[in-house]
Amino acid sequence: MNSETEVKISQDMLRMILESARSLHPKETVFLLRGKTCEHEITISEIVVPPSATYGKGFASVPMFMMPVDFSIIGTAHSHPSGSLRLSVGDLNHALGKVILVAAYPYDSVECSAVYNRRGDRLKLRVT
Ligand SMILES: [Zn+2]
Repeated sequence: MNSETEVKISQDMLRMILESARSLHPKETVFLLRGKTCEHEITISEIVVPPSATYGKGFASVPMFMMPVDFSIIGTAHSHPSGSLRLSVGDLNHALGKVILVAAYPYDSVECSAVYNRRGDRLKLRVT
């Protein structure tokens, strides 16, 4: 998987992530992403609230041992109340799955979101 990889998400799902991030702001929101991965294409098909997500304490506080052993989990989404679209070192250290989707304040358009692979390379996000 490299930066040619395209990540597909439906408009409804992206809107749900952005709206949830907005309603929890200034706290951080976290979701697990379920979907399919092919060689150059990743399709996000479902958003899952992680078990025992500790909202507002940051992405790193969701205990990894609480995460379901579920190979359909292809990555995570979380919000950046700071407004930054860039990943933090903690985001990369705690990456789960193949993709990391970031929704940044003010969460009002596609431009407030970015998707990365777990090495931190930005991938193309296609809203379908
Ligand atoms: Zn982050």
